[in-house]
Amino acid sequence: MDCIFCKIANGEIPSTKVYEDETVLAFKDINPQAPVHVVIIPKEHINCALDINENNSIAVAHIFEVISKLGRELGLENGFRVINNCGEDGGQTVKHLHFHILGGEKLSEKII
Ligand code: 5GP
Ligand code: ZN
Repeated sequence: MDCIFCKIANGEIPSTKVYEDETVLAFKDINPQAPVHVVIIPKEHINCALDINENNSIAVAHIFEVISKLGRELGLENGFRVINNCGEDGGQTVKHLHFHILGGEKLSEKII
């Protein structure tokens, strides 16, 4: 499958990793939108949030455990934002489920 994030997960495309374990990888976004902008993905390919189900949700739950840990390790104790873009209307450009962690300043452009 021609998926950029699968290639990052298997090392075919280099990335600046900030966390890795058996099921999850977090790396710096190539086009940062905040002083801290990390993307966190399941290593297993899941297209988007519409495809989370009882067979793969354990990886997603683990992503949020890692987000909590990274929030502290990245110095984001003052807060941060987690964003998931899903599908066409959500503006998802890479069709491999991922969560953006944004912080390091008071964030603007709040939608909700
Ligand atoms: P989306 O718009 O799908 O929610 O977010 C995709 C994100 O992936 C974008 O913020 C984009 O900058 C990032 N991205 C796309 N290609 C690469 C890449 O090759 N390396 C890294 N580190 N980030 C990428
Ligand atoms: Zn993928």
